Amino acid sequence: MPFDSVQPSDLFNCKKCGDCCKGYGGTYVTKKDIQAIAAYIHTDAETFVKAYCQMSGGRPLLVQAENGYCIFWNEECTIHPVKPKMCKAWPFIESVLIDVGNWHIMAGSCYGIRTDIPDLVIQECVRKVLEKDL
Ligand code: SF4
Ligand code: SF4
Repeated sequence: MPFDSVQPSDLFNCKKCGDCCKGYGGTYVTKKDIQAIAAYIHTDAETFVKAYCQMSGGRPLLVQAENGYCIFWNEECTIHPVKPKMCKAWPFIESVLIDVGNWHIMAGSCYGIRTDIPDLVIQECVRKVLEKDL
């Protein structure tokens, strides 16, 4: 495949194992995410943040259940239609633009990520996804 025709979908194919919904690191939610998820679960934004978020570095992230998974994981994402931008974009996230090494670290625990593509092409695909209004 010529590298100039590589699209984000060529770099990632989710295997739906749920591993990325587990563990410390956290899923940040934007104001837009909060509004959408709160409406989806029939509550208001303030109640949602109090019940389902914890603050980290001044930003809200989804809390984890006792089993270590995101509070919204139950064999699948229970808020899939409105899941946070970070989850929709995964693994095309900002930190890969800062250091492409993060892509390779993430690939160590996510079997859906390809690494046999030049780093500059990976970063270009990440940029393309992040420019979309997810
Ligand atoms: S770890 Fe990767 S393959 Fe597994 S559910 Fe998450 S994104 Fe998909
Ligand atoms: S919101 Fe859904 S996709 Fe995102 S971490 Fe939680 S369970 Fe996983």
